[in-house]
Amino acid sequence: MGHKAGHQDDLSKYAKALGLFLIFITISLMIFFYGIQQKVERNIRAVITNNVERQSYHLSTIIEVQYGYLESIAAYFSDKETLDAEENIELLRAVYEGSTLERLAVFDSDGTATYDTGEKKQVANRDYFIEAMQGHRWLSDPLESIVDGKTRVILSVPIWREDEVIGVLGGSYDVGMLSHMLFEDIYDGAGYCLIVTGDGTIVSYDGDPQFRKIQPEDNFFEYYSRMKFSGGTSLQKIKEDFAAKQTGCVKFSLEDDVRYISYAPLGLNDWVMCYVVPLRTAQNDYQFIQHYEVLLFTGLVAAIVILLFYFFRVNTRSRRALLRDAQEDSLTGVYNKKSAEERIESYLASGQQKGMQVLLMLDIDKFKEINDVYGHPAGDEVLRNVGALLQRQFRGDDIIGRIGGDEFIILMKNCNGEADVSHKAEELCKMFRELRIPEWPEIRLTCSMGLSFAPEHGNTYRELYRSADQALYQTKQRGRDGYTCLGREARQ
Ligand code: GH3
Ligand code: MG
Repeated sequence: MGHKAGHQDDLSKYAKALGLFLIFITISLMIFFYGIQQKVERNIRAVITNNVERQSYHLSTIIEVQYGYLESIAAYFSDKETLDAEENIELLRAVYEGSTLERLAVFDSDGTATYDTGEKKQVANRDYFIEAMQGHRWLSDPLESIVDGKTRVILSVPIWREDEVIGVLGGSYDVGMLSHMLFEDIYDGAGYCLIVTGDGTIVSYDGDPQFRKIQPEDNFFEYYSRMKFSGGTSLQKIKEDFAAKQTGCVKFSLEDDVRYISYAPLGLNDWVMCYVVPLRTAQNDYQFIQHYEVLLFTGLVAAIVILLFYFFRVNTRSRRALLRDAQEDSLTGVYNKKSAEERIESYLASGQQKGMQVLLMLDIDKFKEINDVYGHPAGDEVLRNVGALLQRQFRGDDIIGRIGGDEFIILMKNCNGEADVSHKAEELCKMFRELRIPEWPEIRLTCSMGLSFAPEHGNTYRELYRSADQALYQTKQRGRDGYTCLGREARQ
């Protein structure tokens, strides 16, 4: 009982230590994974934002080039007598053919427009004319053409003569081209791009319609009001960023579909360039980290399983060793007295016996003399050899024990009959006579035995022991080196 309680104490100590270790590892891993996730999130946002900023810069440069065209022509026109002279219109036609600008026109100070086609029109009340006459460059909001369905903007610049604006030069530009130019399969074609005005009107868009559900006639803010924004942002915040010409990147979702939207001011009117990228696509580059995380986790679980297995093994081993120490006679390797007696008792009480059970008691003859003549180490060696001999001679499930200095006891289970038993005892006597101790070859051994039978002499250990002891006594009395089966004729 004492052993068992101690063992359970040990186990609960192990379990506690392991539990604490596991908690520690789990918390550390969670912190580690969380840290990585945060870092990845920051990187993704930085990459998308950087992209949209670069694209927006690129786009405003393109518009700048268009302005450049117009302004160089305006400079050329500034000292012309009449703005709508045929040679000027010829020049517009040439520019139209050589540039990405569509439909160029020169406007008189009274608002009469002459197009590169030669056509004339009155545009005095249009913003692009009024603003340019006041000396500003102007870029109109997009106007969808009824003729070809293209979305165009009008760029206009003033024509200066010294400090005075004498007219306006304008050209239209297909903004659809802008976004097409930008969008070259970034993020595996799963993302899309929008150019939006401050109030949410869509100027231009591009991307695979499979992913881009928003339509050109939708209002950006109305469309996205259905989305759930995470990380403390809202559509209102985006609206404010648009107005304040701020760059940003936020995460939003519609049901399971999580996406990033990044936006940057274009530097043209109040236009903002937006990029929408699915979370999964944006995370693609970091997928390998997840693989490593899985590997690390699996490795740790494997290590813990091995550790548990190791603990378990060490534990059962030391348990077995303790048990053996408690039950074995350390000198001979057979059971000690207490353990042998307990085993025999419980076997006899178990009801598992079939036929005859024999208790054999064995005592080495004149063992004291061996100690006296050759010394105790020789005596010990004899005992060791006798232990080994007995273990060799009897069946694996017979119970062999050392019950005194030179006294052994053997319970022979389920014997076939007395003849067999006698034969066994004779064999044993012979073996003893022939036994040689390598270090002390001159030692000669004999033994005396007494045998009792169950059920004949009793069914308990006590009864069999007493009878076998009596039989042994008779053998000794007769002069040793032999055996006695109680109640039978003595055999020498
Ligand atoms: P008998 O033929 O009557 O049995 O004579 P014996 O000399 O063998 O007498 P007994 O069986 O009484 O002697 C047992 C002796 O065994 C007594 C003791 O000195 C010795 N002895 C007991 N235990 C050990 C041991 O562990 N090692 C050694 N070397 N001797 C032991
Ligand atoms: Mg003896």
